[in-house]
Amino acid sequence: MIGKMECYLARGYLVYQFEDVLSQLELAIENIEAIYAEANQEVVIRPVSWLKRIVLGFQGDKRLEHADILTATLCPLTPLIDALDVESELKQRILTSHTEQHSLALSMAFFFRKEDYLLANFMFSRLFAMTMSLSNQIGLAVSHQAIEELQYDALTGLLLRHSLKQKFQETVNKSVIGNQSIAIMMLDADRFKNINDTWGHPAGDKVLKALAELVQSNQRQDDLAFRYGGEEFLLLLSNVSLENTQMIAERIRQQVEALDVDWEGVVMPLTMSIGVLLIDAVQLNAPMESYIEKADQNLYQAKESGRNKVVISRFQPS
Ligand code: GH3
Ligand code: MG
Ligand code: MG
Repeated sequence: MIGKMECYLARGYLVYQFEDVLSQLELAIENIEAIYAEANQEVVIRPVSWLKRIVLGFQGDKRLEHADILTATLCPLTPLIDALDVESELKQRILTSHTEQHSLALSMAFFFRKEDYLLANFMFSRLFAMTMSLSNQIGLAVSHQAIEELQYDALTGLLLRHSLKQKFQETVNKSVIGNQSIAIMMLDADRFKNINDTWGHPAGDKVLKALAELVQSNQRQDDLAFRYGGEEFLLLLSNVSLENTQMIAERIRQQVEALDVDWEGVVMPLTMSIGVLLIDAVQLNAPMESYIEKADQNLYQAKESGRNKVVISRFQPS
């Protein structure tokens, strides 16, 4: 008799606790919606709203069966997590949490049906903590992804200029340790305004994409390609010599000249001018701007001497 009483009390406590948790879940969902307005909200909200549905189910008189929880949208979250563009280790952690969330819910349902409210309650607290941590992890991953995307230019997929400084510093640090030279290659489309004026802006965009692809295809493993300006690209090369930098620049110049980008059946004539600065590891102690300035001067010379040219020099401190 006393045992039965305790059970009722415990069940009452659990339902009371659910009330509290429900409002927390509502708040969590609201917060998530506000924070991830643009991002992949669904993957963040799903685990929380899933818990909310379970809580509502327990709260009502309806007895939840195993099958209810088994089908309670565990699986639809898995492909969403899978589609997240984050490190596989993080993805694995999220998937593991999600699986644990599911088995905790199953245990909770089991103890609830057995009217062992103390254990059901214990499982529930763990489930709640797990769910919150799961949506935090997913939320972090989503915002991490959004930040990553901010680094890339939407049209060309190249790195944006604002991330140059940090990437440059990382390259310098590595190159000083490895005693390796680096090169800054500035590439500017020749008479690009003519392309826009003759064929229109969408044709110009198509050319920019093709040029970016070409630059990227010449990138080696540790090189970084940026969209430096409207029709200007910057290739940051690691571990290079004067000879291979010259060779890469010349190859890009020739490939651009031979590029077949057509607009309404007409192949648009394309060339690029390239200014390159090679910096030896021992010279890697000046501010980035001073190197960019020299590379830019070389680009200017390439333009002045008739365009469709490569001008290369070795950095000499002034
Ligand atoms: P130069 O050989 O001296 O470099 O001549 P240019 O015409 O390439 O140089 P200018 O700087 O005069 O013109 C660059 C043009 O690039 C002007 C601008 O409208 C165009 N542009 C910049 N960004 C974009 C873009 O995203 N799409 C398109 N279609 N055009 C762009
Ligand atoms: Mg130009
Ligand atoms: Mg330009």
